[in-house]
Amino acid sequence: MQNKSTDVLVLGAGIVGLSAALKLQERGRDVVLVDRAQAGAATSFGNAGLIERSTVFPYAFPRDLKTLFAYALGRRTAAHYHWRALPALLPWIWRYWQHSSPALYPQAIAGALPLIEHSWSEHQPLIAAAGIQDLVNERGWIKVFRTQESADQSLAMAEQSRHYGVQAHALTAAQMWALEPAVKTGVLGAVHYPDARQIQDPQALSTAYLKLFEQRGGRLVQGDARTLQAQAQSWSVQTDEGLLHATQAVLALGPWGEDMARQLGYHLPMGRKRGYHMHFQASAPALKHTIVDVENGYAIAPMRQGLRLTTGAEFALRDAPATPVQLERIEPMARSLTALGERVDTQPWLGSRPCTADMLPLVGSAPRHPGLWFSFGHAHHGLTQAASSGRLLAELMCGETPYIDPRPYRVERFSA
Ligand SMILES: Cc1cc2nc3c(=O)[nH]c(=O)nc-3n(C[C@H](O)[C@H](O)[C@H](O)COP(=O)(O)OP(=O)(O)OC[C@H]3O[C@@H](n4cnc5c(N)ncnc54)[C@H](O)[C@@H]3O)c2cc1C
Repeated sequence: MQNKSTDVLVLGAGIVGLSAALKLQERGRDVVLVDRAQAGAATSFGNAGLIERSTVFPYAFPRDLKTLFAYALGRRTAAHYHWRALPALLPWIWRYWQHSSPALYPQAIAGALPLIEHSWSEHQPLIAAAGIQDLVNERGWIKVFRTQESADQSLAMAEQSRHYGVQAHALTAAQMWALEPAVKTGVLGAVHYPDARQIQDPQALSTAYLKLFEQRGGRLVQGDARTLQAQAQSWSVQTDEGLLHATQAVLALGPWGEDMARQLGYHLPMGRKRGYHMHFQASAPALKHTIVDVENGYAIAPMRQGLRLTTGAEFALRDAPATPVQLERIEPMARSLTALGERVDTQPWLGSRPCTADMLPLVGSAPRHPGLWFSFGHAHHGLTQAASSGRLLAELMCGETPYIDPRPYRVERFSA
């Protein structure tokens, strides 16, 4: 390697780290990305690809007894638990439950909103500069419902979303089939959210962002973030190319960020909601939109690799063996919704959404470590918020006036 020192080390080359690195470069910073694996190969590899300008309501923990019992008894496919993991997860779940209360939940909505509102406008210039507009499906996504109870809830949520400037079109079943002929019968109605964009190959997005970063003079180096050390006025990390120094370092380690923060003495109320995907061969008529089956808690996204079926949340330890029971249960449901061909992948993909108790990411300086910054905990919307939170982080690190209020994302809200 040419230089043993740089301005900024970004630890973690998932979509969050890559986006932050690009936004820092735009401000003239010399940046090196450090990852133990390839760019975008962890959580950012396997999501549903939605840049979710339409979802302004973070995923709250259910508080009504009917839903809680249904989950506890395994009657809903949207969530699955490893019972033996619950004691370890309980401190996080307890605080998550508290932050989901009618008193506190509005803070989560207000906090997430600026990152959602700017999600596409911050990704779009990067996508244009990377020359990958063909990866973007601009049709939005469709939430389908099969029961009157679900219809009432979905239409009420659509109405609330409109108050936040989101387009949400209620569709009868006939209107839905006119828009999306690939959905089979058995649907009562739907809501179309046209503002969202869908990336038809999230890994290709990460690869293209990395290429753009390298074209602009950045480089990705293999290394282990756990070797991060504070030096006098700088940070160092051990890489394949030797010890690398920088005046500033960013932890963009997704579901591993909490471990690294704990190593530095920050105890954060965080957990991971694991999720699975499987690709299926597509058949005619081709699915044009991502479809969310709201009663059963899964999405089907048209991808370059085929139709990607993604699951809801699994509450388990991050590194516990895979238990893709949700995938097994939703596959027949998804087959009744649209034509799925043969399975394409030999094994289900498994990833972990990094989730804070208050449903907001950590984007800001580490209170007790000058020059160290956090950017992780983006939960269900890390692809969505990667570029908008990356811009915020870059502005804060460069001493600029932030374009949105940074206070909801400060590390101090959990750990001073
Ligand atoms: C099933 C599923 C569907 C989803 N759908 C969507 C969606 O449609 N839209 C959306 O916005 N979000 C979605 N998400 C969430 C989204 O994928 C994540 O929030 C996002 O990918 C997190 O990105 P990240 O860069 O923070 O983490 P990651 O992509 O996990 O990146 C972290 C990086 O850190 C590296 N790393 C970890 N430890 C070390 C170490 N010790 N040393 C060096 N490197 C290390 C890893 O190798 C990795 O590259 C979904 C998630 C799942 C599971």
